[in-house]
Amino acid sequence: ALTIGIVGLPNVGKSTLFNALTRNNVLAANYPFATIEPNVGVVGVPDERLDVLAKIFSSARILPATVSFVDIAGIVRGASEGAGLGNKFLANIREADAICQVIRAFTDPDVVHVDGKVSPADDIETINTELILADMQTVEKALPRLEKEARTAKDRLPAVAAVKEALKVLEEGRTIFGAGLDLEPLRELHLMTAKPFLYVFNVDPDELENEEFIGSLRAMVAPAEAIFLDAKTEAELVELEPDEALELLQSMGVEESGLDKLAHVGFGTLGLQTYLTAGPKEARAWTIPKGATAPQAAGVIHTDFERGFIKAEVVSFSDLVDAGSMSETKARGKVRIEGKDYVMADGDVVEFRFNV
Ligand code: GDP
Repeated sequence: ALTIGIVGLPNVGKSTLFNALTRNNVLAANYPFATIEPNVGVVGVPDERLDVLAKIFSSARILPATVSFVDIAGIVRGASEGAGLGNKFLANIREADAICQVIRAFTDPDVVHVDGKVSPADDIETINTELILADMQTVEKALPRLEKEARTAKDRLPAVAAVKEALKVLEEGRTIFGAGLDLEPLRELHLMTAKPFLYVFNVDPDELENEEFIGSLRAMVAPAEAIFLDAKTEAELVELEPDEALELLQSMGVEESGLDKLAHVGFGTLGLQTYLTAGPKEARAWTIPKGATAPQAAGVIHTDFERGFIKAEVVSFSDLVDAGSMSETKARGKVRIEGKDYVMADGDVVEFRFNV
């Protein structure tokens, strides 16, 4: 499964956030046989469509899509040179598929800031600098090896060219992901700044509705996605009954908890989407990469389904809801038969036909 690594300076609220995430762990409830690792939080991606499907099909249970977050120890200035947890820390980030930076924007004078003052812009700069420096080391180490390989194997030349391009970008203090390079030849290096970033700003609760403040933080990281939450409130929310939690959210003037937002946005940052299946047993969201074809989507349920794929019977969620039942949807001619080249759309409700 794809994972999002949570990084940030010490004392910014990472543990508070991560603990709230793991309190929300859907694995234990829905996937009893999965192993749960202590530094991994598997979070359900809330999807109201599943509740609707479960009603239509009288499904016994609901299984949402999930996103996995990995808690990575705090980064400090000099991490790329081995300060703090240094290399161990960097190895953990290399394994993640996207990076979630937690940035302190709350003021609390009782919580010490490692660099002495609360400055989101400076903190972002510190973290990005460490990641860029670490990537530069990786690239500088790889380049002589790649050049040597390319002397005898001409098919290594594109990799050499790509790595030189990457080095130029890094030397300018820029991240690889934002630079618009072809990432494919760089993949083998597991560069950290080649991963998509998203940002969580941990803000004081009364600033959540301060549009000017939020806007200025958003502008710092655009076009990357940013989420604004108060980690302490999130930690309280997961302890409450659902209706109490809803009440608290409404009193704060927000529709969705920060953790739910993080699950939604994180899912998108990883380049994922869902399709839906429903029956008496369960209503379920399945995770596929954006652009996946019908056989690839079937393969997520079972590898045999991809190999033996014949066709997919597809109905859009809204057509199904309009009709109110599967038989009425069929009667209205709204069930499409799609073949192996069909590219799945978000919200497709699907039944696959296959040979095993
Ligand atoms: P980490 O080092 O990034 O994992 O940070 P922690 O989650 O351990 O938080 C460090 C300290 O800041 C703890 O005392 C938290 O209670 C406090 N803290 C975390 N989030 C918030 C917040 O949103 N507001 C305030 N005022 N304090 C927070």
